[in-house]
Amino acid sequence: MVPKLGAHMSTAGGVSKAFERGRSIGCDTMQIFTRNQNRWDNKPLAADEIERWHAAASATGIAPVVSHASYLINLGSPDDALWEKSIEAMVDELQRAEALGLLGVVVHPGAHMEQGEEAGIARVIAGLDRIHAATPGFRTLTLLEITAGQGSTLGYRFEHLAAMRRGAANPERIAVCFDTCHAFAAGYDLRTPETYAATMAEFDRVIGLDLLKCFHFNDSKGALGNRKDRHEHIGKGGIGLSGFAHILNDPRFVHVPMILETPKSDDMHEDVENLAVLRSLIHS
Ligand SMILES: [Zn+2]
Ligand SMILES: [Zn+2]
Repeated sequence: MVPKLGAHMSTAGGVSKAFERGRSIGCDTMQIFTRNQNRWDNKPLAADEIERWHAAASATGIAPVVSHASYLINLGSPDDALWEKSIEAMVDELQRAEALGLLGVVVHPGAHMEQGEEAGIARVIAGLDRIHAATPGFRTLTLLEITAGQGSTLGYRFEHLAAMRRGAANPERIAVCFDTCHAFAAGYDLRTPETYAATMAEFDRVIGLDLLKCFHFNDSKGALGNRKDRHEHIGKGGIGLSGFAHILNDPRFVHVPMILETPKSDDMHEDVENLAVLRSLIHS
């Protein structure tokens, strides 16, 4: 078995177009936006586009696919109007993802906006409960993403994510996306065999490794613990090649999708290079 590698793919021209793009650069897995990530209001996915999606999924074999939720969503917001809009938007994200058969919707847990972390976490839990109550029986998971801890964002400690899941009425709907840049910026080291083992043991103790359902593979422009969300190409940042090699060769993660979110241009040559670098790190 070799790990499943891929990248965030554009859906310009329709969500189903992402598969052809993904295939053209050798993705085994991928992430997409199912709606405009910078707008609150979006047209629903058309039935024929959903059909084209499933046809392209079987034709290319790219799986699993995850989506990334809108950056506007803040389930931790103390502002009722923004919080309600966030819940509504996340319900829409899950409905789209469920129709497309996605593994999960990756979402940043939220920011407490100076209410304090405990109040912020309680607010996120209340939001998640509303979202899951509105989408009963869905198979698509809500994937809470580890964050770098910029500003008042929550989710930069494994304990935050564990508390959100533990407090939720439907914990079985919730798992975690491990972003390497965010984790490193939050202070979780991956660079040596010892620090890598310690980070994953900590994840296992606090959250449980069976709940790690997706990796975002980004190197970090900043140093360990710098709390900045700045993605860098693989091997060019603070994490370096060794950190990625540890994950790629860890048999516990052979079925977990590993997805690039590194800077790219329209021809995607940076993705091609980053995927080649990652594949070169896999021990045969
Ligand atoms: Zn990410
Ligand atoms: Zn990021």
